[in-house]
Amino acid sequence: MEEWDDWHWQLAHRLNTIEELSQVIHLTPAEVEGLAAPHRFRVDITPYFASLMDPDDPKCPIRRQVIPTAQELVPFPAEMTDSLAEEADSPVPGLVHRYPDRVLMLVTTQCASYCRYCTRSRLVGDPNAQFSRKDYEAQIDYIAHTPSIRDVLLSGGDPLILPQRLLEDLLRRLRAIPHVELLRIGSRVPVFLPQRITPDLVEMLRQFHPLWMNVHVNHPKELTPEVEVALARLADAGIPLGCQSVLLAGVNDCPNVMKELVRKLVRNRVRPYYLYQCDLVHGAGHFRTPVSVGIQIIESLRGHTSGLAVPTYVIDAPHGGGKIPILPNYLLSQSPDYVVVRNYEGFISAYAQPEHYERHDPSTCAACRKQALDAREAGQEGVAALLRGERGAIAPEGFALAHRRFPGAVWPAPSIPIESMERGGGE
Ligand SMILES: *Cc1c(COP(=O)(O)O)cnc(C)c1O
Repeated sequence: MEEWDDWHWQLAHRLNTIEELSQVIHLTPAEVEGLAAPHRFRVDITPYFASLMDPDDPKCPIRRQVIPTAQELVPFPAEMTDSLAEEADSPVPGLVHRYPDRVLMLVTTQCASYCRYCTRSRLVGDPNAQFSRKDYEAQIDYIAHTPSIRDVLLSGGDPLILPQRLLEDLLRRLRAIPHVELLRIGSRVPVFLPQRITPDLVEMLRQFHPLWMNVHVNHPKELTPEVEVALARLADAGIPLGCQSVLLAGVNDCPNVMKELVRKLVRNRVRPYYLYQCDLVHGAGHFRTPVSVGIQIIESLRGHTSGLAVPTYVIDAPHGGGKIPILPNYLLSQSPDYVVVRNYEGFISAYAQPEHYERHDPSTCAACRKQALDAREAGQEGVAALLRGERGAIAPEGFALAHRRFPGAVWPAPSIPIESMERGGGE
């Protein structure tokens, strides 16, 4: 059917009401309640993605991702509106500058379809909260005036939903900034609306290399022949593809489903990049799993399948901590002579440390000297600065104050005065 392959038609015929959806699946009472709830997070499902749902199985992993249920309406104690504290790291609307050398640029609030566990449901899906020309100007201006930014990650919302000319204009202007080395797009369009990945779109994108793309696939059922064609077009255009999956109860919280997914991704030239622990966001409570589930999944992948297929499991830390990798323990013990490691099979071996190590000398290393002069990461050097001896300690908030209560007391002072630490300086 010709119109089925037309992405405009797909977008214009998205399903969102009880009436429309009940024509394609047998809605359960809990789904009807979720769909009928006032103020719930937006529902919109492309006919293509809806066609992948099992009409008779409410546990269908495709269906769970896009059809709301009554469970979505139930708040849970730890939930937050902005669980990653992105607003606090926003110098201008839509830009999140958390890490020293890269920014997240939210270019739209719209998506092809809406994931029920959306981490940005506070702003995504609202047709009245769009970014304006003025917002884009401010975002690009900030990037152009911040030379430490070498990597710009376009997200949203879904950047591939923007009018092509607008997206091209944004990419061209970012590419023109000399210190921006890398452009990245985060998109679920290849999965929700593979028809959008036209040869024309891909020709446009390939002008802006190095351009990387992360797609978002959670279950092997999403990798249909249509999606495989879309991914092949992107890969053939030289766009390195990664996948960011979210660990979701009832969708992919199974080591064997995940193994099938990551193998299928790699066959499609997509490198599993991150596996996210589900964020503490309203509506996502029933999708959350214990962290142990993610560790068990990584345990079942590492060593058991291609290293290329093993994503980094991360918790995007609440309150703006950013992504923190979580791994099973492979380093069991250590002495100056040996480290004791175990493999995926439980085989334990001793790795002999070198008897003579000619240490790397930072004072004669150009890269280290440059790093020491560079103010780029001031306040963000972290444990790496402790290891270099540039800082003596990292103190929690209020530490200095608490320890000033006893003016005469002697306590093991860190090598660097507390005051300068709290200003974020290390020197
Ligand atoms: C995820 C994220 C990035 C990119 O992180 P990488 O680990 O480099 O992929 C950048 N900025 C923000 C705010 C993010 O959440």
